[in-house]
Amino acid sequence: VDETKTLSAMPKFAIGIDLGGTTIKTGSVSLDGTILFDCSVDSRANENPSAVIDQILLTIRTVFDQYPQADCVGIGVGSPGIITVEGGIVQYPPNFALWTEVALGKRIQQAYPDFPVMVENDANVAAIAESRFGAGKEIDSFIFIIWGTGVGGGIIINNSIFRGPSGGAGEIGHISVDCAGRQCNCGNKGCIEAYIGQRYLSQRTREQLERSTTRSRIVELVDGDLTKIEPIIISMAAMEGDELARNILVEAGELLGCALSSAVNLLDVPVAIIGGGISAAPDFVFDAILTSLHDRVMAPHKPNVRVLRAKLGNSAGMIGAASLVM
Ligand SMILES: [Zn+2]
Repeated sequence: VDETKTLSAMPKFAIGIDLGGTTIKTGSVSLDGTILFDCSVDSRANENPSAVIDQILLTIRTVFDQYPQADCVGIGVGSPGIITVEGGIVQYPPNFALWTEVALGKRIQQAYPDFPVMVENDANVAAIAESRFGAGKEIDSFIFIIWGTGVGGGIIINNSIFRGPSGGAGEIGHISVDCAGRQCNCGNKGCIEAYIGQRYLSQRTREQLERSTTRSRIVELVDGDLTKIEPIIISMAAMEGDELARNILVEAGELLGCALSSAVNLLDVPVAIIGGGISAAPDFVFDAILTSLHDRVMAPHKPNVRVLRAKLGNSAGMIGAASLVM
């Protein structure tokens, strides 16, 4: 028996950890970006950092119960907050009440001293995943947008993530489209997130319904309870021909295209890849984003603008985290 051959038949893998405000999803990911195994636990985000770290370590042990440590090439983490890649320090992640600054990378490294450990911002990690294994595989430079609860982003230039000197680059959601516009959580006014982030989009839909005198399918879909409005409901109503729902989504697409045009003009990167929960929106929303973007960018960019759907969905976090150490 050729032992080397037998050994090399075992897939090498990296561990990718997607640290979220409610769950931690951890997977073993093969070097071609396939998730071989994954598990998830409650992130215990309301407790001390050590409780969260214990949960992370628990998921790593769960992977190593299934796959031998000898085949693991490293451990990567996608985390909310601003990350100092050197030392894997996580600063003020939203939804983690008791975290200020936590040396997350170091804590994992102490438990697993034999492996490279890398920590990166969660939006950046998803952008990296799309770049290496998803919709951006054939595209050297693009702007990645996570359109969900908030509006996050990452910038890929020449197949690498652009972090900026302090790691804070890519905050597409806080491009202001109206300096006297809606108040955003960040303190600024008119940020694109304050119009099209999940909560704001639902809230603006409620406001319009309360003013509207025509019947809307949205109201029927939530049995008259307007607090139940979510982007998926608005999409369903739009697909069934509801005009108000369709207008709201088209407007959201136009606003996003407007914000993106500033980013395209600034960076000379004419391709946008859009992921996140709301990116499941119907094609006409993507058409609205593209038309708005095309109309607003400077002339030299017009022939090159493209808006694509992300491909990796909810797995982008795990795959991108794993690819940090591949
Ligand atoms: Zn903002």
